[in-house]
Amino acid sequence: LTTADLVEEHKICVCVRKRPLNKKELAMKDLDVITIPSKDVVMVHEPKQKVDLTRYLENQTFCFDYVFDDSTTNEMVYRFSARPLVETVFERGMATCFAYGQTGSGKTHTMGGDFSGKTQDCSKGIYALAAQDVFLMLKKSSYKSLDLQVYATFFEIYIGKVFDLLNRKTELKVLEDGKQQVQVVGLQEKEVNSTEDVLKLIKVGNSYRTSGKTSANAHSSRSHAIFQIILRRRGELHGKFSLIDLAGNERGADTSSADRQTRLEGAEINKSLLALKECIRALGHNKLHTPFRGSKLTQVLRDSFIGENSRTCMIATISPGMTSCENTLNTLRYANRVKEL
Ligand code: ADP
Ligand code: MG
Repeated sequence: LTTADLVEEHKICVCVRKRPLNKKELAMKDLDVITIPSKDVVMVHEPKQKVDLTRYLENQTFCFDYVFDDSTTNEMVYRFSARPLVETVFERGMATCFAYGQTGSGKTHTMGGDFSGKTQDCSKGIYALAAQDVFLMLKKSSYKSLDLQVYATFFEIYIGKVFDLLNRKTELKVLEDGKQQVQVVGLQEKEVNSTEDVLKLIKVGNSYRTSGKTSANAHSSRSHAIFQIILRRRGELHGKFSLIDLAGNERGADTSSADRQTRLEGAEINKSLLALKECIRALGHNKLHTPFRGSKLTQVLRDSFIGENSRTCMIATISPGMTSCENTLNTLRYANRVKEL
């Protein structure tokens, strides 16, 4: 069974990616509590203490389509997760790929807007790898005759508001017409003709993502970033690939924060991640009703959750450290729910 078969069968592919312990964790002697006994199993060894103070490990096991260990490259993760969805987009389908996990677990590193270094190297992430394959596929004789044009959009959702990262972070309205078509009014669709064109746009968008009073990661952890590759034929939509770097899932805890803005952010993130889970599950069950109105995130992705030819993959990113145990378990439970039929 190949990945394509799996995606074909399930419509949904859920995988997990573990990152290596970072310098900070190593410095504080944090322990790696994640093991990957086989390519589709992940175990969390949670340290516990009994009432009589004897220590023990509670081992929890989860199965997914793929589990990538801390030596896996972005290219390998891409090949088994988002790569099979490129075909979907060419076959008039709607594809989505989500990176889900706590802040610092590797979502942005995986998707390709790396803010950590000074270089902002986004060339090796899933955004760029997917774009590269789209341009390769365009050259295939079977698709060449279709005369497809490629466009890209890049926007952000923060507390239910949409901002265009390719147009100076302009706030945009989302409208739903009588036919239930959802439109982000004025969203810039830039025509792209090469991977280099796409990389330039990602750099521009990333620079707007980082702007603001707070540090880059503090801001980006509270918003969802959506990068789309759109195929059009004579102006008509042919297929769409949405690649999404979700807000940090630990933000839910902020709902009891003293700061009003932080509480709002937490509540909104909770709401959208819950709605997202329900929409993906509806897609997997071929349900008639998709609860896309549950949040702005799911509303703008509406056309990706309905229709015969919609496919989704989720990459749940996890930190290896004992100090992240609770967040890691929450991430794995969420990913498990998305996958469960
Ligand atoms: P998130 O977007 O989930 O908050 P980041 O992608 O910013 O997390 O990752 C946090 C830090 O960890 C960054 O410095 C990033 O370069 C590093 N990192 C994340 N995943 C990996 C990985 N698989 N291998 C090496 N470094 C990683
Ligand atoms: Mg990030």
